[in-house]
Amino acid sequence: MKISGHLSLKADVSVLTVKFSDIVGQQTAKKFLSQVMASAKIPHAYLFTGIPGVGKTSTAMAFAMSLNCKDKSSESDGCGRCTSCRQLLGGNHPDFITIRPEDQTIKIEQIKELNRSLGFAPMSGGYRVCVIHQADTMSEEAANSFLKTLEEPPPGNILILKVMEPLDLLPTIVSRCQKVPFRPLAIADIAQWLVNNKGIEKDTALLLAGISEGSLGRAIKMWEGDFLEKRRAWINRMETLPDLSKADALNMALECAEEDRKKGIDIPSSGEAGMVDMLSVWTNWFRDLLVLRVGGPTDLLVNTDFSESLQNIAESYNIKALIESVLLMNQVRADIRRMRNPILVMEHAIMGLRGLVTLSS
Ligand SMILES: [Zn+2]
Repeated sequence: MKISGHLSLKADVSVLTVKFSDIVGQQTAKKFLSQVMASAKIPHAYLFTGIPGVGKTSTAMAFAMSLNCKDKSSESDGCGRCTSCRQLLGGNHPDFITIRPEDQTIKIEQIKELNRSLGFAPMSGGYRVCVIHQADTMSEEAANSFLKTLEEPPPGNILILKVMEPLDLLPTIVSRCQKVPFRPLAIADIAQWLVNNKGIEKDTALLLAGISEGSLGRAIKMWEGDFLEKRRAWINRMETLPDLSKADALNMALECAEEDRKKGIDIPSSGEAGMVDMLSVWTNWFRDLLVLRVGGPTDLLVNTDFSESLQNIAESYNIKALIESVLLMNQVRADIRRMRNPILVMEHAIMGLRGLVTLSS
């Protein structure tokens, strides 16, 4: 079988581990898959749901490695040494294939090519595992063609679909898959991982973990990119907002919207922090103010390094305005994810916040 342009055998660079035992959290998913592996008949389709950076791809690889390991001693993990494990680790396993959107869509040609590949028996004699990233980006044609595959795939094939929300897929696709939800990770677990594996100082690790919203992948990208440098400037913007004229606030909105002009809006692959990160910082800023305003302890703060400044400001806001600020930020982030016009969204965000913080101070 020849693998051509649309399918890839390359290992995923964002994968941190290919062992179940090294994957942070996700006990339910790991337990479910180890039960699956112990069963007589292994189901052929899985739907991995959850935000990016919580271990879905690592788990798919751990599953593939374990299923195909020729020398398995542990119940769940592959040995890491046999031919199959080494091929998987090296990104050249003939039976591990991935599909990703091309120009933001998974096209019918990609699914047709997948269907052709699935028709051949797995080359290594084990299971062929195919991971479909951002499965919700399938075109209507592609989804319909894929549905037929899903109904009756040739034996020996395992399909893993990855999405944020099951609602983003055709219900007929969802109903044919085993659902495996991946939860956001605990802040303490992410922080501990960063301390142990990246040698990051505890306070910084806690800050990154708090802002990552449960995504280890995102916390790592923030650490490796320019997030920490930019964060200070973003917080300063929020500190000055109550004193800005309407015209200056509109200018600020325009500057903020420019932050993302060059790249996508999800986890930026360049490592450059953008609008999504900025909005997370502001959400946590208002959340921290709210914690202090209602008399919460400082160890609940995310922005611990700004605790003095936060304490000085918190008293000047009323609780209702702080709650509304957090709600507004959540709304704005949803709008950004839906690819709304970033300039309009930013104007809505900044002018809305300005209204709330000016009124209450
Ligand atoms: Zn092995």
